Amino acid sequence: MRTRLVAGNWKMNGSLRANAGLLQALKESTKQSDGVDRAVCVPFPYLPQVSAALAGSGIAWGGQNVSEHESGAYTGEVSGAMLKEFGCRYAIVGHSERRMLYGEDDARVAAKFAAAKGAGLVPIVCVGETLEQRERGETESVVARQLDALGDLSEAVLAYEPVWAIGTGRNATPKQAQEVHAFLRARVAASDKAVAGNLTILYGGSVKAANAKDLFAMPDIDGGLIGGASLTAPDFIAICAAARR
Ligand code: PEP
Repeated sequence: MRTRLVAGNWKMNGSLRANAGLLQALKESTKQSDGVDRAVCVPFPYLPQVSAALAGSGIAWGGQNVSEHESGAYTGEVSGAMLKEFGCRYAIVGHSERRMLYGEDDARVAAKFAAAKGAGLVPIVCVGETLEQRERGETESVVARQLDALGDLSEAVLAYEPVWAIGTGRNATPKQAQEVHAFLRARVAASDKAVAGNLTILYGGSVKAANAKDLFAMPDIDGGLIGGASLTAPDFIAICAAARR
């Protein structure tokens, strides 16, 4: 059975004080295992706080980016080994904000994906089309191109995040998301059936407590990558609960 996962992407939000309350609430809500893995991907400076708060809680944590390099003269970058030192399990790779605002192309995303795996992290690699691309009927060709740039998807998590649904309050319908998830899984299956069968594919884009259950009920949607709603404990907790089988 595939791993169900709900991962929060805090983006560039938080403060030591606000994080403490959020992490405490998440911990309290995760006393028993319910078949849903949970994680928070936080700004780098908060990793010591998060690792101290969540150690032993069953909730994993990760970074939102990782350098494609191991070490050296790369000012401002953070390596996979550094993330590992702070107990990270995950690193988000290729988020559309990184692709669009920081010019990360498919080749760089693929290099980051490989670096994360090489460091023993589980990359959560994001693919997704813009609204213009969807309206031009290019959704499948865009996500196929992004997917094909990557290497072996074992020990990785894939996230379908339509760019037009991120932070806009406009989510893909369960049917729209399922269509793309099924397409992605079939494309992975064409080169490796076993990897495709085990691959956790998250949906991300304005997931809220109110729409999570319908999205997670789709056969190829294995959980969510949650931006805005991961900053509010009751919302994130409700979304995690919606991912139970
Ligand atoms: C994201 O940042 O990955 C995301 C899905 O954001 P939101 O849930 O706010 O749309």
